[in-house]
Amino acid sequence: MAFDYLIVGAGFAGSVLAERLARVCNKKVLVVDRRNHIAGNAYDHYDNAGVLIHKYGPHIFHTNSRDIFDYLSNFTQWRGYEHRVLASVDGQLLPMPINLDTINKMYGLNLTSFQVEEFFASKAEKRDPVKTSEDVVVGKVGRELYEKFFKHYTRKQWGLDPSELDALVTARVPTRTNRDDRYFTDSYQSMPLHGFTRMFENILDHPNIKVMLNTDYRDVRDFVPFKEMIYTGPIDEYFDYQFGKLPYRCLEFKHETHDRPKFQSAAVVNYPNDYTYTRITEFKYLTGQEHHKTSIVYEFPQAEGDPYYPIPRAENSALYKRYQELADQTPGVYFVGRLASYRYYNMDQVVGAALTMFKKITGEKRAAGNGTNGHATGGRVVSPAPADAVRV
Ligand code: FAD
Ligand code: UDP
Repeated sequence: MAFDYLIVGAGFAGSVLAERLARVCNKKVLVVDRRNHIAGNAYDHYDNAGVLIHKYGPHIFHTNSRDIFDYLSNFTQWRGYEHRVLASVDGQLLPMPINLDTINKMYGLNLTSFQVEEFFASKAEKRDPVKTSEDVVVGKVGRELYEKFFKHYTRKQWGLDPSELDALVTARVPTRTNRDDRYFTDSYQSMPLHGFTRMFENILDHPNIKVMLNTDYRDVRDFVPFKEMIYTGPIDEYFDYQFGKLPYRCLEFKHETHDRPKFQSAAVVNYPNDYTYTRITEFKYLTGQEHHKTSIVYEFPQAEGDPYYPIPRAENSALYKRYQELADQTPGVYFVGRLASYRYYNMDQVVGAALTMFKKITGEKRAAGNGTNGHATGGRVVSPAPADAVRV
C-alpha cells in the first residue's frame, strides 16, 4: 500500500498531523516511532503496582488557547487540575514560584502584598537589557533569592550557569506579590481524564492511519512507498550531524513505588540546592488516582542520553539556523515539534505548531492547484506560532 505521508514520531507533533491529514484530507498516513509506544514524551502507563505514571517525567497540560483545548477535547475528557510546587530551601518547603507566602515563611515576616513589592524592589539589581536567565531573576528579586531558588537548580538542570542561558528559561517561572501558589495561571489547566496515552490512542484511531512501533524511519523509508515525510525527531540527527551535534539536555528518571498512600506534601518538590536530582514528582496528585500505594519519580539531569530539552542560548540557535536552512532546501520533508524545531515548547505549543503546519501543508497544496497529491517544493520548518494565535 502506498502512503501519502510517512510521519516520523508518534508524539504530539506527529500524531496531531496524522489525525488532521487522515480525517480532514482523507490522506493515507504511516506513523513510525522507534520507541515501543505512542505519545512521545507524554507517554503514561500503569506501573507494576497499578499506579498511573509518566514514564518521561511529570507532564501537566496547560494552555491559554481555547482552540487547542477544544481540539484536544475531541479525543479526551478532562480532569481539572491546578499544579502546585514546593521548593526545599534552608530546611523549609516553600511555595514556588516565589510569592508573598514564600517570603513571609522564609524570613519569618508578615508583609503585605504592597510591602513585598517594595521588598523585591529594594533587593532587585537593575538589568537592562534583560538578556540572560540570571538577569531575569536578579533583575526582579535580587541576588539572595536568585541564589537560593534559581542558580543551583539551573546549574544542575542545564549544566550551565543561568548567565549562559537565554532569558526565556527562567522567565517561565514568574514572581508574585500575592498568595497565588499555582505553578501556572493559564485559562485551561486540565489533565486527560484517562491519561495521555489513551488520548493519543483516540487521536490515532482512524482507518487511514497505520502505526508502526519499534521502527526507525531509516529502516523503512526505502521499502515503504510514500509521497512526503513529516519529521519530528532531532533535526541534527536527520542531517547526520553534518554541522556538528546540537546540544540537548538529557535526563535519567528513577521511578519508585512506596507502600503507603502518600509520599510528599505536594505534587512536585524542587531541590535547588541539595542532591543531584532536581525534583521529585508524586503522580497521584497529577492524575487524581486513589491507590493504597504511591509512585514517584526523581529527575537526574545528564549531558548524554536521549534528547529531552533543547538548550536555549545564542550559539545553539546559530547552529540550529544552519540546519533549518538545510531543512528549507529539502523537498518533500516537513520538520515540526520540539526536537525538530529545537524549541523549548510545552505540549500545547507543539499542538499549535502542528496545527499551523497542517494549514501550511494544505495551503501549499491548494496554491499548487492540485488539491490532493502535490509535492512540496522544499522542506519546511514550521515557524514559531504563539499557542494562542492558532485557530483550528
Ligand atoms: P516527542 O514527544 O519527543 O516525540 C518525538 C517522537 O519521535 C519520539 O517518540 C521519538 O521516539 C520519535 N523519533 C525520533 N526520531 C525517530 C526516528 N529516527 N525514527 C522513528 N521515531 C523517531 N510540556 C507541557 O506542556 N507540560 C509539562 O508539564 C511538561 N513537562 C515536561 C517534562 C519533561 C521531563 C520533558 C522532557 C518535557 C516536558 N514537556 C511538558 C514538554 C513536552 O514533553 C513536549 O512539548 C512534547 O511532548 C513534544 O512533542 P513532540 O511530538 O514534539 O516530541
Ligand atoms: N527553575 C529554577 N528553580 C526552580 C524551578 C525552575 O531555577 O525551582 C528554572 C530552571 O532553570 C528550570 C527553568 O526555571 O529549568 C524552567 O522551569 P520549569 O519548571 O518550567 O522546567 P520544566 O518543567 O520545563 O523542566
